This record gives sequence, structure tokens and C-alpha cells, in this order.
Amino acid sequence: RFITLEGGEGVGKSTNLDWICAWLDERGIEVVRTREPGGTPRAESIRQLLLDPAPQEPLDDDAELLLIFAARAQHLAQVIRPALARGAWVVCDRFTDATFAYQGGGRGVDMRRIATLENLVQQGLTPDLTLLLDMPVEAAQSRVDQRLGQQGGQRDRFERERLVFFQSVRDTYLARAAAEPSRMVIIDAARPLATVQDELAENLTRQVAL
Ligand code: C5P
Repeated sequence: RFITLEGGEGVGKSTNLDWICAWLDERGIEVVRTREPGGTPRAESIRQLLLDPAPQEPLDDDAELLLIFAARAQHLAQVIRPALARGAWVVCDRFTDATFAYQGGGRGVDMRRIATLENLVQQGLTPDLTLLLDMPVEAAQSRVDQRLGQQGGQRDRFERERLVFFQSVRDTYLARAAAEPSRMVIIDAARPLATVQDELAENLTRQVAL
């Protein structure tokens, strides 16, 4: 099984990823936990290029998209396909839905260009289950502010732009979930963690039974 976890910043992706992997491990399932962009040494090098905090030049949208899919091709070849082939479960922190949400929704890259690269690189391989941790952008941002020990409330222009960006990311994720409800499950991440995890367990149980 190939399971991906998606969501914007501050929705509790890391905590729930730990929990999902522990849940599967307790049931004797071999789990390969990985992430995107990255997941192999070369793909992690590409991640560093993508997330460079002090870039010497702007990264062209197409160059960014191609780097993301180059990392994905490497990750599929080295980690994901071999693991699935031997019957392990792959649990991946972000995958192609994030490319549609961040590059498509957030940055306005034409979704058709993303879909073209998806077909080229994945050749039909898509997640069996995608868990989308969803909550309102303002609330998620407050969690991030808290984690960083920053004061919420006062929003300068940069922060407002961030909120608009993350709203498009969220809207794109939700639209994709609405279009593919059998693969992509929306989990309301604003509820208490125990409730969120009950719902994660329900979805994982269904995958185990398949
Ligand atoms: O998953 P994680 O939060 O560690 O991702 C790191 C950053 O990479 C995120 O803050 C997100 O903004 C960015 N990202 C992106 N495009 C993607 C995937 C991640 O811009 N396709």
C-alpha cells in the first residue's frame, strides 16, 4: 500500500505521521517512512536546492517544477517502487497533491503542466490512500506562530500574502479531495488529536482489510 499525508503548515502533519507509522508497526506491517521533496540522498540534495533560504537568484517556476519531479523520479525508482514491490507499506510525507497545491494553487503554475509531468514520471502509480489534514488557514498559522514563539494577531503585508498563498493551497487540496473522494480523505485537523487519530485509524483499518 502507498499512503500519503498532505496538508498545509501547522495542521499536525509530523505528529500524525509518527502516529500512523507506529500504528502500522504495531500490527506487524513493514513500513517505509519517507518524504517529499526528498527521500533519497540525491533527492534530498534537490530538496536543498528547492528550499534554499538565501537563494542567489530567483528560481524559475518551470525549473522548480522540473526539480520537484526529478526528485520524485529518483525517489520512486530508489525507494517507493522497490518497497511496494516487496510488499512493504510506504508512508510518504507529501507527494504530487502537494505539487498541485503549492506550485499550482499557491504559485499559479498551470495545472495541466503538472499533470503532464505526473503522467511522465509516475506512469500510473498513484497513492492508494491520501490523508488530507485540513483546517482553516488562520488557525493553522496561529499554531505555527505558537510553535515559533511568535505573537499572532499583528499581520504585516508579508504575512497577509502568506495567508492568501496558504488559502489557495488549502482550496486546491480540498478541490482535489472532492474530485477523488475514494482516494483522498479529508480529516478535520482542528479537532482534538485523539479524535483525529480515531479517524486515521478507521481509514488505515480499511486499507488493512482490502
Ligand atoms: O512538508 P514540509 O512542511 O517539511 O515541507 C517543507 C516546505 O516545502 C513547506 O513549507 C512547503 O512550503 C514547501 N513545499 C513546496 N512545494 C512542494 C512541497 C513542499 O513549496 N511541492
